[in-house]
Amino acid sequence: MHPDQFEKYSRQVLFAGIGEKGQERLLASSAVLVGCGALGTVTANLLVRAGLGRLRVIDRDFVEPSNLQRQTLFEEADARESLPKAVAAERRLRGINSDVKVEGVVADMTPANARELLEGHALILDGTDNFETRLLVNDAAIALVLPFIYAAAVGSYGVTMAIRPGETPCLACLLEGDENSSAALGAEATCDTAGVLNAAVGVVASVQVTEALKILAGRPEALHGRLISCDAWTGRFQTIRAPRNPNCRACARHEFIYLEGEAQPHITMCGRDSVQIHERSRKFDLADLGARLVSASASDVRNNQFLLRFRVPPYEMTVFADGRAIVKGTTDPAVARSLYARYLGA
Ligand SMILES: [Zn+2]
Repeated sequence: MHPDQFEKYSRQVLFAGIGEKGQERLLASSAVLVGCGALGTVTANLLVRAGLGRLRVIDRDFVEPSNLQRQTLFEEADARESLPKAVAAERRLRGINSDVKVEGVVADMTPANARELLEGHALILDGTDNFETRLLVNDAAIALVLPFIYAAAVGSYGVTMAIRPGETPCLACLLEGDENSSAALGAEATCDTAGVLNAAVGVVASVQVTEALKILAGRPEALHGRLISCDAWTGRFQTIRAPRNPNCRACARHEFIYLEGEAQPHITMCGRDSVQIHERSRKFDLADLGARLVSASASDVRNNQFLLRFRVPPYEMTVFADGRAIVKGTTDPAVARSLYARYLGA
C-alpha cells in the first residue's frame, strides 16, 4: 500500500478483521452492483469508501425527486436533469474515492446481457427492486460460480443473505417451492404499496456491505451464513440458518429458467405508476427522434444525452437510446405497448 492509502484506510486497517493484508486484498478486488436505488446507493457509498479496486454499477432508471428521501448518492440537481442513476452514481463515487475504478452502466439486466455484465467480478451485490431480476441474477451467479449478496427492503423491514454457489442456499432455495416463504422475504409488498423508510434501507445495506468486505478482503470464514431480517421500526431482528433445497432447480439441478428465458417481458416498475417496455435492442438517435415528436402531437419534448422525455397526456414517456421506454401514468402493458408503437414505431 502507498503511504497515502495507509493513512486513508488506517481506521479500517486497525480493525483486526481486515488488517493490512485484508485492505490490500480489498484494493485489488472487484464487485458489480445490480441496481442503484435505495439499497444500491448506500451499499456503493460504503464499499467505495472502504476502498475496493473496481466497482461496476448497473442501473436502468433515472433520478426523480421522490428518490432523494433514501437514495443517498443523489442530489436535487440530478433529479432536475433526469440523470440516469448509473451516471449520477459514477460521478459521485469517483469524487468520494479516486482509488476506485467506478464504471456506471445504463442498462436493464436481461437474460441476453446478464453474463456479460456480471462476469469478471469477484462478487455480485443485489440492489434490485424486483424478484424477477433477482432470480435472473441468482441463476447467473450460480452459472458463473460467483458469490451474490441478496438484499431487499420495503416499509421498515429488510432482509439480506450472502449466497455462495454450492455452499449456501441460493435465492431459489429460499423463494421457490414454499408459498409462505416469499411473503416472509418481502416478495409481495412493494415500495409502491408500503413505502420505505430510509433508515431501514441503511440497516440492511450495512449488513450487506459487512458480508461483502469479508468476501473481498479474503475472510470467507468470517461469513455468518445466515439470513438476517430486521424491522427497524419495531426493533425485531432475526437470524435464520436456512437449509439448502437438495432438489433446488437452480443450485442443485442447474435449470436456469430465468437466465435462459426469452426476451424480458414488459415489467411494471416499483415506486411509481409506470410500465417499462423492452424492445429487442433498437438504437434511437434521441435528438432526431425528439425533432420528429415535436412535429407529431407530443408536448414538453426534452432530451439530454442519455434520454428523451415527452408527454402525451395523461401519459409521460421516457425513452433511452437502446430502445427501452418507460411509460408513466399506466400499469397496463397493453396501453404502454400501444403508445410505444404509435410514437416510437412498431
Ligand atoms: Zn438453490
